[in-house]
Amino acid sequence: MNVLVINCGSSSLKYQVINSETEGVLAKGQCERIGIDGRLVYEPAGGEKEITQAAMPTHKQAIQIVIDALTNEKTGIIKSLDEIGAVGHRIVHGGEKFAASAIITDEMIETVEACSDLAPLHNPANLIGVRACQELMPHTPMVGVFDTAFHQTMPKEAYLYGVPYEYYEKYAVRKYGFHGTSHSYVSKRAAAVLDKPYESLKTIVCHLGNGASVCAVKNGQSVDTSMGLSPLEGLVMGTRSGDIDPSAVEFIAKKEHLDLSGVLNVLNKKSGVMGLSGVSSDFRDIEAAEQAGNERAATAQQVFNYRVIKYIGAYAAAMNGVDCICFTAGVGENNGVLRKQICENLAYLGIQIDDEANSKRGEETVISTPDSKVKVLVIPTNEELAIARETVALVK
Ligand code: ADP
Repeated sequence: MNVLVINCGSSSLKYQVINSETEGVLAKGQCERIGIDGRLVYEPAGGEKEITQAAMPTHKQAIQIVIDALTNEKTGIIKSLDEIGAVGHRIVHGGEKFAASAIITDEMIETVEACSDLAPLHNPANLIGVRACQELMPHTPMVGVFDTAFHQTMPKEAYLYGVPYEYYEKYAVRKYGFHGTSHSYVSKRAAAVLDKPYESLKTIVCHLGNGASVCAVKNGQSVDTSMGLSPLEGLVMGTRSGDIDPSAVEFIAKKEHLDLSGVLNVLNKKSGVMGLSGVSSDFRDIEAAEQAGNERAATAQQVFNYRVIKYIGAYAAAMNGVDCICFTAGVGENNGVLRKQICENLAYLGIQIDDEANSKRGEETVISTPDSKVKVLVIPTNEELAIARETVALVK
């Protein structure tokens, strides 16, 4: 079956068509600047990447343009939409309602809408994508795959904040966690690579991209993760602060004459390694600046690494041990220097890195030495494939 995987944001939309039998990508790309002017990126497997300007005032028009590209006589990868067996939609926040992916129904959409105040930037945009696809493909089954679902196995002691319990009861204020599709996929692949039963491993997954989070996976279940009610908690990220003392919010607001949402905007968009370095949110730029002698860039990198090291230590403690640590996402997969620096601080766990293995890129690799007590792996994440698998499992 061919599955169309959709990740819809407010002004952009990423898509992939994956054949579930071969798990190969038939085509991928994105629509950018939806509602502004519109740009389509389309890349068929084995073909040339095309970038075209195309007016797309609405998401429905954007998806129609994607469908036109997929079914184009010359460069398309299918003859008609009948060759798409199902659509898998990434949905950011499933609240406590969704502990697993689910077939999209009217009732399901209502429930996602009810979670929207927990993810006001993401869920409404995700649902716009769902509705647009439903209008254009009314007979194709659709599945929602939630970033939060994998973490619904966290125990109370991990997900409750130390605030009045009634806030949890009345408003569902708690830790939810994100990147769940990636943490689930990567931890499963690690077990397969190590040839160990998934249900018997203690794994820490470090998803280090522009957004970054760490997850403790014990016996195949997420038991803790660093992002919280929103993706702002936890690690220092590209532009997000991660953990800070809530009192700093009021303090900064007063000093900078900002209101609450003004400070939160700073913490989400102008902080992290961007804010610390003053250089960039992109870790390649940070690395380059550091090499050119920029001290603030070096400090930003140290602060980032230190927070990852602390979370790994915390999760080894939370699970009463750790069997393997995985690095994934843009930075985790590509930056061997950073992996080495982090692991040097984990020598107390009996971790030793094999420098040659650590220099490889783009493939699943065990980067620890054979006698390292804890195995360390690089596992390239593949959220689209994970969404396609979930989708097929539900529609079959
Ligand atoms: P997101 O999905 O959260 O936008 P990604 O997982 O794509 O983020 O990661 C983006 C980050 O990965 C950027 O900061 C970038 O610098 C880093 N990155 C990507 N490729 C490389 C590379 N070859 N070497 C070092 N860092 C890289």
